[in-house]
Formats: sequence, C-alpha cells, structure tokens
Amino acid sequence: MNISATNNLEAFWMPFTANRQFKKNPRMFVSADRMHYTTSDGRQVMDATSGLWCVNAGHNRPRIVEAIRQQAGELDYAPAFQMGHPKAFELASKLVAMSPTGLDHVMFTNSGSESVETALKTAIAYHRAKGDGSRFRLIGRERGYHGVNFGGISVGGIVPNRKMFGTLLTGVDHLPHTHDLQRNAFTRGIPEHGAELANELERIIGLHDASTIAAVIVEPVAGSTGVLVPPKGYLQKLREICDKHGILLIFDEVITGYGRLGAPFAADYFGVVPDIMITAKGLTNGVIPMGAVFVKNEIHDAFMTGPEHVIEFFHGYTYSGNPMASAAGIATMETYQEEGLLTRGAELAGYFEDGLHSLKDLPHVIDIRNIGIVGAVELEPIAGEPTRRAFQAFLDAYDKGLLIRTTGDIIALSPPLIVEKSDIDFIIDTLGGVLKALD
Ligand code: PMP
Repeated sequence: MNISATNNLEAFWMPFTANRQFKKNPRMFVSADRMHYTTSDGRQVMDATSGLWCVNAGHNRPRIVEAIRQQAGELDYAPAFQMGHPKAFELASKLVAMSPTGLDHVMFTNSGSESVETALKTAIAYHRAKGDGSRFRLIGRERGYHGVNFGGISVGGIVPNRKMFGTLLTGVDHLPHTHDLQRNAFTRGIPEHGAELANELERIIGLHDASTIAAVIVEPVAGSTGVLVPPKGYLQKLREICDKHGILLIFDEVITGYGRLGAPFAADYFGVVPDIMITAKGLTNGVIPMGAVFVKNEIHDAFMTGPEHVIEFFHGYTYSGNPMASAAGIATMETYQEEGLLTRGAELAGYFEDGLHSLKDLPHVIDIRNIGIVGAVELEPIAGEPTRRAFQAFLDAYDKGLLIRTTGDIIALSPPLIVEKSDIDFIIDTLGGVLKALD
C-alpha cells in the first residue's frame, strides 16, 4: 500500500514523534496478533514493548475483542454523572478484589495522565476534607514521568516535558532520582545502593514543614525514563517517612500495574502499599483508553460526610467508567486471571534477565538493568548528539522485525506477558545484532 498516496501525512501532528523524520519514511502498522504487528508493507514485527507498555496480554485477544463488540451493540454510552451502568461497578469490584490491601475504592479516568491529575487533586482535597487545608504542597522526583497534563509535568522531572510550558504548578519539590551508574551499573534486579536517597524527603519536609505537604508521588519503577529500579529499601523508607509526617504516598503504577513485574502491582512486588495507586494502560490491555485510581478507605470515607444529596467530590470525566472501556477492562482482567499473566513474569524473569545481560559486552553498552519482564540497555551517548545512537538502534531493529522503545540513549524492552522463551531469544538476538552494527 502506498501510504502517502492515500493519506495526507501532514494532517496528523503526531505525539512525541520526530514528525519530519517520520513523514519522509513512515512506519505504519495495519494489524496485530499476539506478539506481532504487521506493517503496511506486509512485514511481521515482534512487539517487544507491549505497544506503549500497555498490551500486556498481547494483541487481538478474542475475549476482549468480543466483549467490546457485544457492549457496543448493547449499551454504547451512559452518562457518567448521577447515573450508573452495571459494567463499571463490575470492573471496579474486580479491581479492588485484586488490589493491595486497603485500596478498596476506585475512580475511573481515560488515561494515565488523567489518573495522575485525579490522584493529585484527590490527595489535596482529602486533607482539606479532613479540615487540614494547609496541606497543598506536592513532591515528585527527578526523572519522574507522570503524563503530560499540568499537574503531571509539575511533579514530573523530565526537562523537555516541562521547559516549554511556563511556570507549572507552584508548591512542588522534587526528590533526587535514584539512577546511579557509578555504584549500580549492570545490576540484575534491585540495586544495592541508594536507599539513603529517600532521606532527601526529610530535607524537603524540613524546608517547608510537614504540615504544608499533601503527597509524595513516585513511579515505583520509573519506566519512561529508562527502567530505573528503586534501590533496596528505598520505597520502604519513603513509606516510613510519609507515615511519620501524615503525608500521602502515591504510586504511579501506569507501567508497573497489571503484571509487569511478575506480581499484580509493584506495591505487591515491593511489599509497600501506597495511599493512592494510579493505573491505566494494562487495565484494558491498551485496547480502549481507560485509567483507574485506587484510593485507600480512609481517603474515600473522608468525603462521605454531609447531606446525602450533595455531590461529595467535584471531579470526573464524561467518559469515566465508559461502558465499552469497562467491558474491555473486565475481559482483560478475566484474560489475565485465566492465563495467570499477572504472575507469569515471575516465572520468566530469570530467563529474560539472563538474555538481557548477555548483551553486556557489546559496543557502547554502559548499563543493563531489569526487573520482572521489563528491562533496559543504556548506550553511551554520542558527544553533541544525544539520543542519535538509540534512535538508530530503534530504526535498525524495526528493519529487522523488532519493535523496541527508546528514551534518550536508553533502549527499553517490555514484551507482552504472553512472551515465550523463543520470543525472548529472538528479541535478544535481534537487539544484539543491531547493537553490534552501531557506530
Ligand atoms: N504515568 C506513567 C508512569 C506513565 O508511564 C505514563 C505513560 N507512559 C503516564 C503516566 C501517562 O499515561 P498516558 O499516556 O495514558 O496519559
């Protein structure tokens, strides 16, 4: 198919894309099944990134496809405010039944970014509902990614995502990131060094006083900035400090949620339960946009006061708990559960880890890291041209039938949780060939 003859490629201003480069030589997927995409020129490309970290059960799963088809013919839309429909309640019940203890209420959104905004607003409003209106400050982390809306980029710590967009939210501080190539390079799994970085939270609290701070938000494993696994004991320390000072701890599990680490959530994997847990992506296997924000009971209950006819929380979206998204979410959870996908990563993690670390001695590789079924290979940047080397690897891998994800000079891998050992072999062999050929 001649793509440029049938489409005006200029009309779509693509997100997070080098548009001019892309439009000279477009890369198009036209269908997908399980581990593979098919390109517009008929090639098979293995999906080593679960789309954008979301297609955890692999592509074109019949139960999910059928659930959406059926729902579309039954109830296409219902107002999200002051009205309900059974599927949203069914999905919420399924989710809280599998969530870490105490996170028994869920709000629905349409994306990770919206889930982040929902979580931040809920945290501030919760303190206020309890009569503690001075707690409005938020603490994020360097190299944190929390979507692209104003709250998310304010607590986020990626400079290009922030610098064009004005003053952002006030009252935000950032913890240091935990990426330490000097001490932790080539760690398999959880790094040994760096738990003490959590103590920076005490320093920030010392600057402002705890009574002004609403919440700390972190990704348990930072995904978009290159799979930064937290040092041993780090998340536990954050939890302790937050508890000591009455500050809410928010985990952004948009990537780590729904089985990526070999446990249902990172909270389960690390044994640290946040007060608010943000999810999206794998919630519907990426098929229909949806996010879910889990809150602990005390937070929910703090709003359930006052006259019963009054709306408790002035927040929500036209599509919160949308019927098609809910149906997709239910079918996704059933697929995960039936196939044991939420813990399958634990069985394969060792094989994935061995494969990934076999790339250690290839040219330009300065770090390899992994946890569950997610990993990264960091390349030495070319002086004056950061990102060029990894981008070249991305293009070369695509030519060889492999979809990888790059961020800066880091290559990230997060294949669907249905991945087989033979698929892992293909991913590692292909990536190895690509890395060997890089200048
Ligand atoms: N938080 C995290 C941790 C993410 O990784 C992402 C997306 N990669 C988001 C939020 C934003 O999600 P979305 O693109 O669905 O808005």
